Amino acid sequence: MFLSRRQFLKVSAGTVAAVALADKALALTALQPVIEVGNPLGEYPDRSWERVYHDQYRYDSSFTWCCSPNDTHACRIRAFVRNGVVMRVEQNYDHQTYEDLYGNRGTFAHNPRMCLKGYTMHRRVYGPYRLKGPLMRRGWKQWMDDGSPEFTPTIQTKYKFNARYLDDMLRVSWDTAFTYLAKAMIIIANRYSGESGARRLREQGYPPEMLEMMKGSGVRAFKFRAGMPVLGIIGKMGITRMNGGCGALLDTYVRKVGPEHAQGGRYWNNYTWHGDQDPSQPWWNGTQNCDVDLSDMRFSKFNTSWGKNFVENKMPEAHWKLECIERGGRIAVITPEYNPTAYRADYWIPIRPESDGSFFLGASKILLDEGMYDADFCRANTDMPLLVRTDTLQYLDPRDVIKDYQFPDFTKSYSGKVQTLSPAEIARLGGCMVWDLNKNQAVPIHRELVGWHFKKSGIDPALTGTHRVRLLNGREVDVMPIFQMYQVHLQDYDLDTVHQICRSPKDLIVRWGRDMGTVKPAAIHNGEGVCHYFHMTQNGRAAALTLILTGNIGKFGSGCHTWSGNYKAGTWASTPWAGAGLGVHTGEDPFHITTDPNAHGKEIKVKSYYYGEEVGYWNHGDTALIVNTPKYGRRVFTGKTHMPTPSKFRWVANVNVLNNSKHHYDMVKNVDPHNECLVHQEVEMTSDVNHFDVSFAV
Ligand code: SF4
Repeated sequence: MFLSRRQFLKVSAGTVAAVALADKALALTALQPVIEVGNPLGEYPDRSWERVYHDQYRYDSSFTWCCSPNDTHACRIRAFVRNGVVMRVEQNYDHQTYEDLYGNRGTFAHNPRMCLKGYTMHRRVYGPYRLKGPLMRRGWKQWMDDGSPEFTPTIQTKYKFNARYLDDMLRVSWDTAFTYLAKAMIIIANRYSGESGARRLREQGYPPEMLEMMKGSGVRAFKFRAGMPVLGIIGKMGITRMNGGCGALLDTYVRKVGPEHAQGGRYWNNYTWHGDQDPSQPWWNGTQNCDVDLSDMRFSKFNTSWGKNFVENKMPEAHWKLECIERGGRIAVITPEYNPTAYRADYWIPIRPESDGSFFLGASKILLDEGMYDADFCRANTDMPLLVRTDTLQYLDPRDVIKDYQFPDFTKSYSGKVQTLSPAEIARLGGCMVWDLNKNQAVPIHRELVGWHFKKSGIDPALTGTHRVRLLNGREVDVMPIFQMYQVHLQDYDLDTVHQICRSPKDLIVRWGRDMGTVKPAAIHNGEGVCHYFHMTQNGRAAALTLILTGNIGKFGSGCHTWSGNYKAGTWASTPWAGAGLGVHTGEDPFHITTDPNAHGKEIKVKSYYYGEEVGYWNHGDTALIVNTPKYGRRVFTGKTHMPTPSKFRWVANVNVLNNSKHHYDMVKNVDPHNECLVHQEVEMTSDVNHFDVSFAV
């Protein structure tokens, strides 16, 4: 466009005039106040934004529930619901209201109870890994559809039994999953029952001892495992009921046998295979385990966490340790790593992994050398005065010393009535003797002469020295009390040697030993991690020794404990007045089911058709411990009562059993390809679900 000079000046002048007018008008508008504020201090700050946060906590309803993943704490907590969705969960602070049938109540002290995992539980429930229905492996379904042909390398490859991870998972209906599984159970039970089943297993290379354990029943090749089942007697232990119940019924159907010959499957254990059980406990206190309610920590004045990050791993119980501190207790932590429990402790003792036994034996030597042991307790409550023959290292048995010696009659006392020991068992356990300083000779004592019973006996047993005893056969042997033997044994555990073994600082070894000898009551709580050490029996016994020597057993705030929550099994103990306890749920006789909903627990007939099995055998190439030794030939180290059976069908609930097992590659590549059906009940997608043939969402 062409503009003349005159036209350009006209346009420019008009534009400038318009901008000038607009500027004036806008300036006046901007000067107007937007809002009238009378008293700014009354109006500001504006807090309406807080409503967003208040609104987040609004809920329509709430309910309490028992959080029970695999961590054993089973906290009862409260969930808050909005628009039908759980928005958050919180501690409920109501333990003081809990009451049992006998009127025993919890206390306020048990509050609070929960952990950060519990706070996020609902996110897992709604999360992307949540299983929402049954899944079936494509290859396994095809195998079933093709008539479940017997396994050969070709068949295993064709249906991906040797590459389950690489297969697709199909979404199927519950009816389809149940129908396929029921058929598979009948097929597999048939396949491995009777003489033809034994022949198949023999050809597959299983040893005769394992075949004998089948008792002719294919159902015996079924393995069931409820993970940490004591945490959920109905939800998790339910498959144990199926194992003994449906298993036995299936066996009568397949083999046409009566109930008297029916067999259930094998019940895979939890406690020992997980390694949670402290193997030393049966050695030094005679029970499977020594778990306390952790509220007992409030009574401790010296509390040691050994191999245990108590704060992070016993989350809802950690406040008991804090209360121990508040009440003036001293806290020590013995762990290789400086962990959150360690930095709350009075002192942390670093230790070389697996060398713990030397530490405690070194501390025991300090206790003996510096006279910090409780001699009266050792005499009356422990085996320290018992005499051991130095020639055989066996207890001095009164039957070898006293003519026609008879054990006392225990039929009406604790050993007979409560522990139900027969006279034959008492004789088999053998007797023992102590050196009575009053008589200056060996005298017999018995299993019930403990504590004040022992003090009343008038016996003054020697703890030290070597004594000579004449046996009935005329021989003279030297004997010494166990306490004396420890004095000899502990000579090997001087401070320098112990430091060399465990690398703990010398001053801290001495400090811990002296604290153990002088501060009472003292307790040691060890983690389940150290229970996995192959020589934990020795480590745990050495730790307990320090408590035994100092009389820190059997009193509030004392003792040597682990805590994996299995004491809850005691809640289901059977009694004459209540019935068969746990067995009512897990082992009701399937041939005599009680259908009356009002029946008393005592009326439930219990007969367990399943039989226990250690999972470790499956995890050991699915074989018993049978070794061809170069010198002695074939040796069977697995006892008859523990003998496993071949694994052909597996059903687990609430446990990632493959993840728990050792030698993952071996299990996936060599062991499980011989398993014809794997079934899982799980909340989320796990490596087990990905490896299994059928999975149920729970
Ligand atoms: S400790 Fe945590 S995860 Fe375990 S039961 Fe309690 S809230 Fe649930």
